Amino acid sequence: MADEALQIHGGYGYTQEYEAERYYRDERINRIFEGTNEINRLLVPVTLLRRAQAPLQEAVARARDALGGGVPPAGGDRAALAGMKTAFLASIGAAADRLGARLKDEQEVLLPLADVAIQILGAESALLRAEKARASGSAKSGLMEAAAKVAVCRAAECAAAAARKAIWMASDGKESAALAEAVSRITQVDGSGLRLARGQLAAATIENERYPL
Ligand SMILES: Cc1cc2nc3c(=O)[nH]c(=O)nc-3n(C[C@H](O)[C@H](O)[C@H](O)COP(=O)(O)OP(=O)(O)OC[C@H]3O[C@@H](n4cnc5c(N)ncnc54)[C@H](O)[C@@H]3O)c2cc1C
Repeated sequence: MADEALQIHGGYGYTQEYEAERYYRDERINRIFEGTNEINRLLVPVTLLRRAQAPLQEAVARARDALGGGVPPAGGDRAALAGMKTAFLASIGAAADRLGARLKDEQEVLLPLADVAIQILGAESALLRAEKARASGSAKSGLMEAAAKVAVCRAAECAAAAARKAIWMASDGKESAALAEAVSRITQVDGSGLRLARGQLAAATIENERYPL
C-alpha cells in the first residue's frame, strides 16, 4: 500500500515534501522489528513440523490422495483456497520426505513454504470476512466479496509460485517436475469476475476518497 501510494504520486512521492515518502520509509520497519521477516517466516514451517507432526502427516497423506485422484478444474474462490492448502501440504510433505531432519535447517525450502502458508492465511481471512459480512447483511458485503476475489486471485498465483520454489529447492529430481506441475494445476483460480471486482473497489475508493473497507 505504501509502495503504491508513492507510485501514484510519481516523482513527488519520492521527495520528502509529500507524506508518501514517510509512509514508505516507516512501513519498511514492519519487516525488521518484532522479529525480522526472515526469522518469523522460518518459524512458520518449523513450528508446524515440531508441534503438529502427527496431524500434519495425516493432512499430507490426504493431500497426496487428492492430487492422485486427479485435479479438479478451476472452481470458485473456495476451491482455489482448498487447492492452495493441498499445494502447501504436498510441498511440505515432499520436502520432509526428501530432506528428513535436515529440513529444519534448509532455509531455501522453509522460506517459500512459509510464503505459501502466509498466502493461505490472507486468502482465507478475506473469504471469511466476506462471508461474515454477507451473513450479517452488511452494506459493505458486495465490496468485501470483491476484495476477497482480488485477494484470492493474487494469493493463488503467489502461493503456486512459492510452492513450486519450495519443491525445486528441496529436490531437482524428475519427481519434482511432476509435483510442481500438479501444484500449478491445483492452484488454478477462476479469474472471471476479477475485472469487475477491481473496478468496484476502485470506484468505491474514488467515491469515498479513501480506502473503502
Ligand atoms: C525502530 C525500531 C524499533 C525497535 N523497537 C524494539 C523494541 O521496542 N524492543 C526490542 O526488544 N527491540 C526493538 N527493536 C529491535 C528489533 O527487534 C531488531 O532490530 C530486530 O529483531 C532485528 O534484529 P537485528 O537488528 O539485530 O538484526 P539481525 O538479527 O542482525 O539481522 C540482520 C539481518 O540478517 C537476517 N538474519 C539474522 N539471522 C538470521 C538467520 N538465522 N537466518 C536468516 N536470516 C537471518 C535478518 O532477517 C536480517 O535481515 C527495534 C528496532 C527498530 C529499528
